[in-house]
Amino acid sequence: MSIFHNPDQIIRPEILALSAYHVPPATGMIKLDAMENPYPLPPVLRDEIAQLTMHAPVNRYPDASAISLKATLRQALAITDDMDILLGNGSDEIIQIIAMAIAKPNAVLMSVEPAFVMFRMIATFANIQYVGVPLKKDFTLDPEAMLAAIATHKPAVIFLAYPNNPTGNLFNADAIVRIIQATSGIVVIDEAYHAFADASLMDRLAQYPNLLLMRTLSKLGLAGLRLGLLVGRREWLVQFEKMRLPYNVGIMTQLIAEKVLHHTHVLLEQAEAIKSERTKMNAYLGTISGIEVFPSDANFILFRIHAASQIFQALKQRKILIKNLDGTHPLLENCLRVTVGTPDENAQFCATLHAILSETA
Ligand SMILES: *Cc1c(COP(=O)(O)O)cnc(C)c1O
Repeated sequence: MSIFHNPDQIIRPEILALSAYHVPPATGMIKLDAMENPYPLPPVLRDEIAQLTMHAPVNRYPDASAISLKATLRQALAITDDMDILLGNGSDEIIQIIAMAIAKPNAVLMSVEPAFVMFRMIATFANIQYVGVPLKKDFTLDPEAMLAAIATHKPAVIFLAYPNNPTGNLFNADAIVRIIQATSGIVVIDEAYHAFADASLMDRLAQYPNLLLMRTLSKLGLAGLRLGLLVGRREWLVQFEKMRLPYNVGIMTQLIAEKVLHHTHVLLEQAEAIKSERTKMNAYLGTISGIEVFPSDANFILFRIHAASQIFQALKQRKILIKNLDGTHPLLENCLRVTVGTPDENAQFCATLHAILSETA
């Protein structure tokens, strides 16, 4: 007699109910959907990377504690000696480590809505409850609602992206501090877009014992390497470190990240170019009647437009891929998100959008 093996009876129901994180195919497209830095590294640096990788001992496991890379990160990101660093295979993995570490029965992971979707998804992966507190209509933080939700749900961890994705804005720092002070759990500030914002909560770390800060090299120009980091007090990081898989950051990532971080100015100059393009695009979109543009401190712009889903499809047909957020949250009705690309890509996006709008007018 054969046994019938049915995933429906084996896999947790909340996993069965999920749909996988969708990464749309982008071959041949102008890719403005994923907040990547559009600029390649300069040829000299690429040659140096080629040399490094040629001699990399790939037959050996990488340095499990990545001592050299951590020292370089400490320098490049000005991380003080009183704080520890935990490395992740992207910051996504760090969110996962934190979620698994706090996953007691009935534990709550809290964030705002709309926020980075991985906060919710990873809570589900880790079998913990997710609570998303709505932002105000203008996407600012609602501290009163947050404090009330904290009192009700007693979250073990609160994730706040600063600037926020997909809205692009920086939350009020005083409101964040109120949240940090009100919760008996930890607060993780996710600064994935730090390079494009003129603010950070890094210098508050020493002040608040329950504050942790996350960064990533992805949006800065090294998305393909997969390297994220968590900065915080040793008492927290020793615990998370236990759950980190021993060789989560491969040798190529360690070598290349370290090399590029010795030339951080290259990435920072690219970030400056992206910021000035952001200003231009923001101004351009603001001139189009019927478009509501939201201010951004990140490398993308959120805007609201009539019949957003049709506009999104029309752009896609013309080989321009952005992100459609219509239908993902009530506050994001008719919202689209465009990543700031090269001047040429941005000009093509603007011209194509203009053409689509004049055809449908
Ligand atoms: C893109 C993004 C990340 C993911 O970064 P990786 O390091 O590439 O995993 C984390 N947080 C926010 C808010 C993001 O937008």
